[in-house]
This record gives sequence, structure tokens and C-alpha cells, in this order.
Amino acid sequence: MVSWEKPHAVLIPYPAQGHINPTLKLAKLLHHKGFHITFVNTEYNHNRLLKSRGSDSLKGLSSFQFETIPDGLPVDPNHGDATQDIPSLCKSTTTTCLPHLKNLILKLNDQVVPRVSCIVCDAVMSFGIDAAQELEIPVAVFWTASASSFTCCIQYSQLLLKGLVPLKDSSYLTNGYLETTIDWVPGIKEIRLRDIPSFIRTTDPNDIMLNFFLREMERSQRACAIIINTFDALEGDILEAFSSINSLPPVYSIGPMDFLLNHITDHELNKIGSNLWKEDQECIKWLDKQEPNSVVYINFGSITTMTNENLIEFAWGIANCNKKFLWVIRPDLVAGENAILPNEFHEETKVRGILSNWCPQEEVLAHPSVGVFLTHSGWNSTLESVCNGVTMICWPFFSDQMTNCRFSCNEWGIGLEIEDVKREKIESLVRESMDGEMGQQMKENALKLTKLAKDAASDPNGSSFQNLDKVIHDALLSKF
Ligand code: UDP
Repeated sequence: MVSWEKPHAVLIPYPAQGHINPTLKLAKLLHHKGFHITFVNTEYNHNRLLKSRGSDSLKGLSSFQFETIPDGLPVDPNHGDATQDIPSLCKSTTTTCLPHLKNLILKLNDQVVPRVSCIVCDAVMSFGIDAAQELEIPVAVFWTASASSFTCCIQYSQLLLKGLVPLKDSSYLTNGYLETTIDWVPGIKEIRLRDIPSFIRTTDPNDIMLNFFLREMERSQRACAIIINTFDALEGDILEAFSSINSLPPVYSIGPMDFLLNHITDHELNKIGSNLWKEDQECIKWLDKQEPNSVVYINFGSITTMTNENLIEFAWGIANCNKKFLWVIRPDLVAGENAILPNEFHEETKVRGILSNWCPQEEVLAHPSVGVFLTHSGWNSTLESVCNGVTMICWPFFSDQMTNCRFSCNEWGIGLEIEDVKREKIESLVRESMDGEMGQQMKENALKLTKLAKDAASDPNGSSFQNLDKVIHDALLSKF
């Protein structure tokens, strides 16, 4: 196929690590299927990528190019290496990005590369739908999280209509109200309000995040396809129930993409990475020296913050278990200050543990030494655990992490939840998951899910394997 005959997909992730990673995976898969790719990061994140990975890692292939658009936020010289404020980003991307994207596409169409033939935008970057509709090209939205969180977010409008949200006053956050269960979310028998993505926890009807999700969920239904990073055997009931929601375009589950990516042997393509922080490889060398299943791996992802008191409780909980540990402490993990761990913690644990700023998480989770993952329950982290049969201790922070925690702990039996950050609780949950009967059962469940994930995405007859071809054929190439 000569280059001008190729289809050309423009992919636009939401500007945060947990969205960029899966979108890059999808971009690689589409490239492997013959697409020319333009991957659009915000200027802020592109500069971070250049810093963390070097410009060479972004230049390997002429048919896979990176472009940028501004995110609309003022440039803050002191804000170099951290996720930007999420509500500000949501507000600025919805109000400022569309003209920049349209200009970019016009510029691309003037170049020698094949004309842009479709757009895949993050479900919460719905200005991509406007651009595609103006250009009369197909557009699919990509929900980078679970089907359960997607279906819950679609129900935000019903929660409002039924008067369950916004909360009457702030006492509703603590008075047991969030324990209320609802039984009308399609595909989910029962779910507590506290398990629903956390943007409903507001008393303000004009809350930025609540309104952002209401708007983006409504608009995502105008795309010609919805792609979700999950698989049928994991969230079958919910995926099936999507067909009963008339307003939704067809939904395609294509996860976990890691197994689909195993089919790609192109070295230049595999080399492209998306970590915004520089990865510490020392922790892998350290893991190599540990016994199988012996290490507690602790990482709270790219956005979660905590108080220094929380950090200290985690530290002593981890220290008191007497287990080996790898703990990733992002420089901005403690809100508003530097993380300060007590000297006694360092003294007591220096032979047992290793601290790091940022690690190659997928390599860590695939490492045989890792015994359990103490996580904030981000969807990528959850799915990466599922791919590697690793059990979890879950401490959800915000957003869809509440829903992921609920499913990991209550539906799939692969996690235990930390409800209250107290050192005794953390110690007992780590011990239970690594040495207890429940931990053993969770491990069996996790390994079963790994097998189902492989069946879905590695086997050419698997649901995700086939759904990827279907969405390409039905939606992305529909006008090509
Ligand atoms: N990640 C990583 N190294 C780290 C922390 C996170 O590579 O030290 C990656 C992780 O593998 C995952 C993503 O960053 O792909 C985090 O996404 P997730 O949805 O788990 O959480 P978020 O950061 O969005 O809260």
C-alpha cells in the first residue's frame, strides 16, 4: 500500500497519563492494521514526553507522527512535572481546543501525508466529534476506563432527574447517604452511590466536573462508535446492556490491549512510549533479586494525592508487615508539600524496601517477585493487574476509581479495600492478601481472569481481537 492510499487516523487523548497510555496503545494497533497515525498531545504533555523519553523515541516512523495543540491553560513556569489541575483542564479543553484541532487537520491535509480519514477522540475530548462532523469524516470516541464506569456516568443525568444528585448539603457526604443503593443502572444489579464515579459528590448544581461529565456523556453519543478498554468476559452484563440504551452508538470492547499488542513485532513502533515521568529501571534490577511473590508493590498512579498523615500511616502499615516492598512516591504525591517519611521508617526498612519516583509499571506488574499491588484502583492499573494475575489492595481516590474498586473487591474477588488509612488495617490487609486463605482465593480468581483476558485479546477468535477489526471496518473505514 503506498502512503497516499492509506487511511489516516488522528487520535486525541485527554491530557493525563491514564488516558495517554491506552490511547497510544490503540494508535499502535491501528498503525499495525495499516493506518497512518497522527497522535495529538497537548503542548504541555508533549514537552514532558520530550523530557522524559528524549525526542528520538518520538521520531522512529514517518507513518506515526506526533502533533500538538495548546490545552488553553496559562503556562505556569513552576508547574513542570505534574498532572495539571483536572477541573481547570476540563474547562479549558472544552472551551478552547476545537479551533486548534481544526487548524491542525487542515495543515495535515495540506501536507504530503494521506488526508485525514477519521478521528478517534477521548470520550471526554468531545470537541473531536465537532471537528470530525464539520470535516464529514467518521469519528469514534474512546472511553479509556471500564464499561461499568461508563454506564454509571451515562446515568448521571438520571441521578439528577431523580433528585439523588446534587447532594442536599455537605453532611450527605458522611451521614450514610452514599450507602444508598440503586438498582436501575443497565447491566448492574445494584450499586451504592459511593461506588459511582465520584463527581456526583457535590452539593453544587454548577459543579465543573459534574457538568463536564453530563455534557461529555451526552455528546459522546453523537459519535459513530464507542470503543472501551475492557473485555466481554470481565464486564459482559454491562456491555450487553448497552444495546438496550437506544441513544448509544455501537460499543466495541477491545481490551486488554496489551495482549493485542503482543502480535506487533515492529521494533520502531514498540519503542514509542508514553510515560510522562522518567522511568526508574533500578527497581527492576532490585525486583530481580527478590523471591517470587514476595514483594508488596505500592503505587497510586499519576493524579492521586494524600495528606502527609496518610503517607505516614501507609509507611508504618507497610513497615510493620515485615515484607519486601517497592513503593513509588511521585514528587507531588503529598498535596501541597514534599513527602516526608520519618527517619525511623527509613532505618527500619532500608534492607527490605526500595523507593522510587516513577517506575515502568507494566514491567513491574509482570515481574514474578510481585506478590500484591497496593493501588488507587485506576483503570489502567486494574487492567494491568488483571493481565498479570496480580491481586490488589485498593484505596480509591476519586473518579472511576470508586467503581473499579467495587468491582475488583466485590464482583471479581481480586481485591481488598482499605476504607480507612490506619497502619493496623494496612498491615492486616497486606498479610491477608499475601499469606491468608482469602489471598489465595483472590490469586486463583486473578489467574482465571488473566486467562480470560488472553482468550479475549490474544486469540484471533477472541472477542476483543475481533471487535478491533469490527470497529475499524464498521466505523473508522466506513467512508474510506
Ligand atoms: N504508571 C507507570 N509508572 C508509575 C505509575 C503509573 O508506568 O510509576 C502508568 C500505569 O502503568 C498506568 C498509568 O500510568 O498505565 C496510570 O493510569 P491509571 O488509570 O492506573 O491511573 P491514573 O494515573 O489515571 O490515576
